Amino acid sequence: MIPGDLRSFYDCTKDDLLALFESVGQPKYRVDQLLRWLYRRRETRWENMSDLPEGLRQTLAASLPLSLPEVANTAGAKDSTLKFLFRFSDGSMVESVLIPPSPALYGSLSKRKTLCLSTQVGCAYGCKFCASGLDGWKRNLSAGEIVGQFLAAEAASGEKINNIVFMGMGEPLANFAAVMKSIDILNSPWGADLGARHITVSTSGLVPEILKLADQPRQIRLAVSLHGATDEVRDQIMPVNRKYPLDSLLRACTYYANQKKQKLSFEYILIAGINDRPSDSRALAQIARSLHAKINLIPYNPVEGLPWQRSSDSSQQNFLETLRKNGVVATLRREKGGDIAAACGQLRMKTLAGTNEISSPSPSRED
Ligand code: SAH
Ligand code: SF4
Repeated sequence: MIPGDLRSFYDCTKDDLLALFESVGQPKYRVDQLLRWLYRRRETRWENMSDLPEGLRQTLAASLPLSLPEVANTAGAKDSTLKFLFRFSDGSMVESVLIPPSPALYGSLSKRKTLCLSTQVGCAYGCKFCASGLDGWKRNLSAGEIVGQFLAAEAASGEKINNIVFMGMGEPLANFAAVMKSIDILNSPWGADLGARHITVSTSGLVPEILKLADQPRQIRLAVSLHGATDEVRDQIMPVNRKYPLDSLLRACTYYANQKKQKLSFEYILIAGINDRPSDSRALAQIARSLHAKINLIPYNPVEGLPWQRSSDSSQQNFLETLRKNGVVATLRREKGGDIAAACGQLRMKTLAGTNEISSPSPSRED
């Protein structure tokens, strides 16, 4: 009776629920009632859903679980960034990071509360600098597990989140169907009702999926993890570049920007001696100008066991200035929040290794 890809109520779109309710002889308005409990009132217990008949609640409770991921660990930073380690029912763990409004990123009047979501357990793309791919790919998250991170982060923090970035563990475009479904649930008025322009998908550069995303109607934003302005640099640190070299990636980016009438963002982590030379900055400026794209520079966050170091403060500053002198809109993330967001994978790694100093599950902040 229930399709195999539905493993919890949070995997269900409105259409899924309409089909499910029809199959048990329930009228359509009951679906709207249930959706209001799930996404407006955030109710997680059937017994509290007072306007649904007892018999229906029992049928629903017996058909699919209604459970959010468990908070396995939390970590706080001075700037009130809050990092959650979530555990799913099979024991798998991923991270989500809640980032407070950041003047450097969005302007001083911004009230943006951003949540960085994970889309896979592990990652198959093996970028040489990244903690998320160190143990390879374990599995894809379902749409409900992605939506669950959002609901659980709001519940645990008491904050209203109004911006989502798919920049946690995993490559979102390699889990295309589930990520699109989670965006449907997060964006739709019957769901979490977040504006499409407040949802950003970050990719290491999967060309066919960028083209596919460009043809979807939703106005979601795309951030591309470039980290190198030449094939030589990208080949060295991002194996995905051998499959989709820079010129094919940039053509796909141009198609996306034209289809959506949107400016793209390029993420660029600064790694000492690898991609932070003046010539790298000039090459990046040329790419950004030709695509009218914005550059987010991120100081590399060193990962235990990996050889890479963050660029010096002066290299970071010079790199930024070269971009700006060349007419490119660029930011340099200096806040700890930015660092933590960029370093998804590290709390999980520490927890799995049993070396985390943070007690579970109450949030602990350094300040
Ligand atoms: N797989 C997607 C989204 C997740 S990674 C992607 O690669 O875009 C989110 C961002 O964090 C990417 O730009 C990634 O390159 C960056 N990142 C990974 N490890 C990092 C580290 N140790 N320090 C800084 N940024 C890092
Ligand atoms: Fe995967 Fe992104 Fe990390 Fe690369 S940077 S290994 S694509 S999560």
